Amino acid sequence: MRIGILGAGQLGRMLAQAGIPLGHSFNFYDTQLTTTVGGLGEIFVGSFDDRATLKAFAAGCDVVTYEFENVPCESARFIESLTPIFPSPRALEVAQDRLHEKQFLQDLGIAVPRFRGVTSESELREACEVLGLPCIAKTRRFGYDGKGQARIEHEEDIAVAWRNLKGVPLIVEGFVPFSRELSVIATRDKGDDLCVYPLSCNLHIDGILHRSELPAPDISPALKATAHALISRVMTELDYIGTLAIELFEVRGEILANEMAPRVHNSGHATIDCMKSSQFENHVRAITGMPLGCVEPQSRAVMFNVIGSVPPLETIGSLPNARIHMYGKEPRPGRKLGHITLLNPSKAEEDMVDTLTRGR
Ligand code: AMP
Repeated sequence: MRIGILGAGQLGRMLAQAGIPLGHSFNFYDTQLTTTVGGLGEIFVGSFDDRATLKAFAAGCDVVTYEFENVPCESARFIESLTPIFPSPRALEVAQDRLHEKQFLQDLGIAVPRFRGVTSESELREACEVLGLPCIAKTRRFGYDGKGQARIEHEEDIAVAWRNLKGVPLIVEGFVPFSRELSVIATRDKGDDLCVYPLSCNLHIDGILHRSELPAPDISPALKATAHALISRVMTELDYIGTLAIELFEVRGEILANEMAPRVHNSGHATIDCMKSSQFENHVRAITGMPLGCVEPQSRAVMFNVIGSVPPLETIGSLPNARIHMYGKEPRPGRKLGHITLLNPSKAEEDMVDTLTRGR
């Protein structure tokens, strides 16, 4: 099949790298030409409201998917009128607005941090009183990697947060004193089959994922069951086809859902090297109607993102259990340039790569 991907970043690159060996070919659509998917398929360049270019892109595809959740819903619906698109635009709609997303999760009976929607500084003040400080204010739309957020510790921070977040509609959340951050990733196919990857344990620095361990250590059977039940509830409700990630907070042995990504996810990159079928391969399998592949881990894996600048890859590459994945991007501060997965690493190997990948 020819698969169209809205977005041409590293997630699109890894989807194509997984899908090409399965016999598929790829078209990409993005607002500018990128090197990240170079050589992996045809790239269409246009804005997301450029209907003529969207139409030309979709016309050549048997199925379309997306690699980032800020694709405008109208564009996804326009594509849907021409070519099947998975996951359905409804998943995009829910995930694009943090307030709707939290409400949606809560309505499904899933535990989430306490939250309130606000549209003015006085409502923000009121929400802080109700939720108690500290709390976190987030823009409802277009936030990612910790952008569009402000932590409010003291009353004086309220006006500053409102100004810094530019007076747009916000969601305010009670600060969760989590012991760790986890994520659960699953893929659901057209026949209602669902496979859930082992949970990963994630460490963020400055709001950007730094390290992800898979499987997460010390996951009790009860916690695993809760995570499986919640992702399966979300997927069933959305009639979801493809790979979905839900980020979680573990707090006092319970889990709260923070946010969902209707796509393959950074915390699942280790699945490329430690699973028979990665999150990328299973996404491609699901949207093209192939049966899902095995998600039993073949080894413990720890993934580190390469952000901003390139670490000494020859040193890291000398570790026999290191798998290096660079995305072909020019270094720029804060930019995700690649990732490194260590299979069954020793503590010393892990510490070395941890240190070498901290220079952003
Ligand atoms: P988000 O963009 O919602 O994924 O938030 C980015 C990061 O901010 C998360 O990975 C957490 O480390 C932190 N964070 C977000 N929301 C909360 C919260 N309600 N309580 C504590 N930390 C949070």
